[in-house]
Amino acid sequence: MKKLQAIRGMNDLLPDDSGQWQYLENTLKRILQQYSYREIRFPILENTELFKRSIGEVTDIVEKEMYTFDDRNGDSLTLRPEGTASCVRACEQHGLLYNQTQRLWYMGPMFRHERPQKGRYRQFHQVGVEVFGMTGPDIDAEVLLLSARILRELGVADKVTLQLNSLGSAEARANYKSALVDYLSQYKDQLDEDSQRRLTSNPLRILDSKSPDTQKLLNGAPMLLDHLDDESREHFQRLQDILNTAGVPFEVNPRLVRGLDYYGKTAFEWVTDALGAQGTICAGGRYDGLVEQLGGKPTPAIGFGIGLERLLLLLQATEQLPEGLDRHTQVYLVAVGEVQSTALSLAEQLRDALPGLQLLSHCGGGSFKSQMKKADKSGAEVALILGEDEAQSGLLGVKYLREEQPQETLSVPEVADRLRSRWPALRTQ
Ligand code: ATP
Ligand code: MG
Repeated sequence: MKKLQAIRGMNDLLPDDSGQWQYLENTLKRILQQYSYREIRFPILENTELFKRSIGEVTDIVEKEMYTFDDRNGDSLTLRPEGTASCVRACEQHGLLYNQTQRLWYMGPMFRHERPQKGRYRQFHQVGVEVFGMTGPDIDAEVLLLSARILRELGVADKVTLQLNSLGSAEARANYKSALVDYLSQYKDQLDEDSQRRLTSNPLRILDSKSPDTQKLLNGAPMLLDHLDDESREHFQRLQDILNTAGVPFEVNPRLVRGLDYYGKTAFEWVTDALGAQGTICAGGRYDGLVEQLGGKPTPAIGFGIGLERLLLLLQATEQLPEGLDRHTQVYLVAVGEVQSTALSLAEQLRDALPGLQLLSHCGGGSFKSQMKKADKSGAEVALILGEDEAQSGLLGVKYLREEQPQETLSVPEVADRLRSRWPALRTQ
C-alpha cells in the first residue's frame, strides 16, 4: 500500500521542534500585550468573494495561489491566504469599527498554492496586526515600533532592514500608473513576460519585478514618490520624522509596492539577506480604503503580517534561539515494584506543590536499570526513586543525574524544598 504523506508544502511540527515555536509565539504574545493589542480569531475558511473583493482580482494571490473549492452546498469557499480581509470582515460583522479604534492581533495558518521551497510553503503561519480608526502617522510609527521591538527582542535587529515607501492616494497612484505605463510601453519588448502582462493588468507590480533587465529599464522610469499627493507626502514626512526621533533606522525604497491591491500611503517591509530569495520577514502598510470597499464606513487602517517560518529560519540561521527549548523534563519519577498508585499520587502532590515543575512520572513498570536509562535519556536533571521500601516509609530517593552529588532519601515536602532551591524560578510560577 502506498504510504500516506502530508500534502506537499504543508509541514508537520514534531515535538523536538515545537519548543522553538512556543518560544516564538510566547515572545510575540508578550510584546503584543505590552502595546495593549488584543487578540481576535476568525475561521480558516471564508467565502471566496471576500478575498476577491479585498486582495484584488489581478493579484498573484487571487489569480493563482488560492485554495478554492465548492463545498457540499455548492458555495465557493477559500482557505484564507492572509488575515487582513477576514479581520475586516469579522470586525464589520460584529460592529467593532463603529465609532471606536481597535488594536488587534491574530496568529495562525495561511494557505497559498505556491512552489514550495525554503521559506515558502503552502501552509505557513503569520502573526498579523491590524489597527483601525486612526489616520495619523503616529499610529503608523507605533506599528513600526512594535515590529521593531519584536525583531530586537528576538535578537535579530542587526540582521534586518526596514524599507519604507508611500503609495499615495488612490488618485495619485492612478496618475502615476499612467505615467509608468506610458514610459514602459516604449520598451515593451524588453520587459520580462510577467511584466508585459502586468502592463495592462497591474502595472505597479512591475516595480518589484525580479528580472534584472526590467529593473534596469526602471532606472529611467518616473518615480511614485514624485507623484504623491500633498497629504500623502506630508504624512510620509511626518512618519519619517517620528521614526528618526525614536531611533528606528529605515531606508526609503521608492520601488516598494505590495502584492495586495488594498494598500495606500505607508507601505513597508522588514527584509533580511540571511535567507536567500525569501528575504521578506514582515510586510504591511496602510489600507484606508479597504473597510469601505468591503461595505463598511470609511475607516482608516494599518497592519502587517510576519511570516513565522521565515522568522524562525532567521533565528536559527543567526543562532538566536535560547538553549534547552527541546527539553521537557526536569524531574523523572522512577517507580520500581508494586508502587504504581503511590507513585502517581506522589507525583500529584509534587505538582500541587510546584506548579511550574516539569515532572515525568514513569508508567509501565520495568527494572530499576531500564527506568534509570529512560530518566537519563529524558534530559531530566533529577531522578526521584520510589521502590517498595520507600513507599512503605513515605520517602523518596533523590538522585542527581548530571553532577557528582550523593543520593539522598527525603520526605515529599523535603523533596519539594530541594527542587525549589535548585530551580528558583519554580517559586514564582
Ligand atoms: P513574497 O513576496 O515573499 O511572496 P508576499 O508579498 O506574498 O511575500 P505577504 O502577503 O505580504 O507576502 O505576507 C506577509 C509575510 O508572510 C511575508 O513577508 C512572508 O514573511 C510570509 N509569507 C508569505 N507567503 C508565504 C509562504 N508561501 N510561505 C511562508 N511565508 C510566507
Ligand atoms: Mg507571495
